[in-house]
Amino acid sequence: MPHIRQLDSHVADLIAAGEVVERPASVVKELVENAIDAGASAVAVEVQRGGMGLIRVTDNGCGIAPGELPTAFLRHATSKMRFAEDLGKIGTLGFRGEALAAISAVSRTEILTRQKGAAAGASLHLEGGVAGAVEEAGAPEGTTIIVRDLFYNTPARLKFMKKDSAETAAVAGLMQHLALSHPDISFKFIKDGVEALHTPGDGKLESAVYAALGRDFARSLTAVKGRGGEVEVSGFVTKPLMGRGSRSMQVFFVNGRFIKSQLLTAALEEGYRNQIMKGKFPGCVLAVTVPVTAVDVNVHPAKTTVKFAREREVFDAVYHTVLDCLAADSAPRPEPRPAAETVNPRQDFFQTMDAKTFREKAAAPASKPQPVQPTHVRPAWNTEWKTTARVADRKPEPFAYEPRKKPAGGALSAPPPSVTARPAPVKESVFVSRTEPAVKPEPPKRPFVPAIPAQQTMELPEQQTIEPPKEAPWRIAGEVLHTYIVCESEDGCVWLIDKHAAHERVNFDRLQASLEPPMRQTLLQPIAAELGREDGALLLENLPLLEQFGFACEDFGDGAILVREVPADINAEDTVPTLEEFAEKLRTGRSPAERREGLLHTMACKAAIKGGWTSDPAELRVLVDKVQSGQVRFCPHGRPVAVKLTKYELEKMFKRA
Ligand code: ADP
Ligand code: MG
Repeated sequence: MPHIRQLDSHVADLIAAGEVVERPASVVKELVENAIDAGASAVAVEVQRGGMGLIRVTDNGCGIAPGELPTAFLRHATSKMRFAEDLGKIGTLGFRGEALAAISAVSRTEILTRQKGAAAGASLHLEGGVAGAVEEAGAPEGTTIIVRDLFYNTPARLKFMKKDSAETAAVAGLMQHLALSHPDISFKFIKDGVEALHTPGDGKLESAVYAALGRDFARSLTAVKGRGGEVEVSGFVTKPLMGRGSRSMQVFFVNGRFIKSQLLTAALEEGYRNQIMKGKFPGCVLAVTVPVTAVDVNVHPAKTTVKFAREREVFDAVYHTVLDCLAADSAPRPEPRPAAETVNPRQDFFQTMDAKTFREKAAAPASKPQPVQPTHVRPAWNTEWKTTARVADRKPEPFAYEPRKKPAGGALSAPPPSVTARPAPVKESVFVSRTEPAVKPEPPKRPFVPAIPAQQTMELPEQQTIEPPKEAPWRIAGEVLHTYIVCESEDGCVWLIDKHAAHERVNFDRLQASLEPPMRQTLLQPIAAELGREDGALLLENLPLLEQFGFACEDFGDGAILVREVPADINAEDTVPTLEEFAEKLRTGRSPAERREGLLHTMACKAAIKGGWTSDPAELRVLVDKVQSGQVRFCPHGRPVAVKLTKYELEKMFKRA
């Protein structure tokens, strides 16, 4: 064994420098952060060959006293903290006192600085960490640091540098983040002699976004602002339809520091749940402000991650801010129309009471004969409009955040909302199947399944007929391709509405918001669904969940399931496909919440009118109303339900404008 010795300080410095200075972008980051901490209102950054040739950072901040210049380049030398307890309340970007020492250890560095109001400035040259003499020099107020020949004395690191273009890109990305983090500072970035970024420094985040991320991205954003407890959230997020292909445009700041955070990403994306297309990600520029005592920034030498004292509070603040602002953004009409105005000219068509009222009335003693529902070719549209929650009224589910370490951990999903009581069994004769039940020949070994007795007489609660609104601010012009509703709004816009997608959303919101178990229909002839052993077992394990969704099922042996009751708004012939889809969702869902939501999606889809079906005008009116009032904008998979063409856009197409 060789002898154990303490490393000499030069080698120790090089090792320490390796942690702070990984590549040119890390140098730029540290120098610009110093400029921000120095109170600069303008910072210029110039790089040549991706920073491998030269990095120059100039600021108009407070400057450094000539006598303190050599000290600034020593390890653990800082003006930003003194005592151990200061670590618990860091309000500056720097605090470790390592950057200047690290940068100068692995490069040839020059500094020129003059303090505000001082008669003269000073300069200092360092080579591989060895400082020359401080010299008096003429200089503008502020500080300029030039770093040349980065890693010239650490060949191992030099070997791992990427192409200059990759390093330039890394610096450019970093400059965007720095500029966005401080809209009150004017940033200029020049790469190889060409100006690549210049922000006005007018204090407006939107100006910085526009300058740093471009007009198109800026246009895809909507402003958000909110607070929860001691956490403030403000900034911009992409409109749900403007989802992006990756998370690269998710920019988060905590107390003015650009950071990477799975917690914040999860909170943001949770706010978009069911509003953004699958495979798309929201973009954002979000500033989170927390008390300095509630966040630990001393987690990593590069200071790009933080630890929150109360993660849940931060998560909730971001999530609710995003969710509420997106909902507010989607509600163009200030006064929601009362439910009583909902169009319902056909009594047999809509259920205009909620499930609870319905059940109470249904349980009342019978006096009138029950009107038997006719057999429809397709399912009636049995939607409880009154219980449909507006997006803005939707109560978010309680959320338990777990860091996303294991992919199977389901960190991004919420636990199910408090589960409602097991539904009381529905009186058998309330509903009859509206389609020919799919009767399977009964296998000999199976137990005898008694058919449900024919309809008994009992009173059905009266349906309310509601007059159509006298002056709806829109008019349906027709339906095309049996799929799209064409409609004209008062403000001169033409709308195309995908009726299936819109209805699916309505169903989804209703199911999600409903605390009541769904209304069911008892099948005249139970259905034996042959699903195979695996799927059958999976569904049997989840019978209580199926109950919640309105399916009364039991084991029928050999992987078959006997279905006695199905939700009222599902066509009996859709029973087996629905259960098959349920099995798939139960198999692939990573958490109870995800599985439940998968089932909600299936239900919403199966209960929706389908493209290709002929629809009753009353159905279409209700859907248009939902879309026009802003309650429905995206299908549960995040696809748009409506396309709007303004008069001006039409005129442009016809070259009238
Ligand atoms: P830290 O930023 O963690 O304090 P650094 O090594 O980055 O450590 O800087 C050391 C000290 O040098 C800082 O604490 C600050 O007082 C001073 N300093 C560095 N850069 C500047 C600058 N651009 N303007 C004014 N002072 C600076
Ligand atoms: Mg620093």
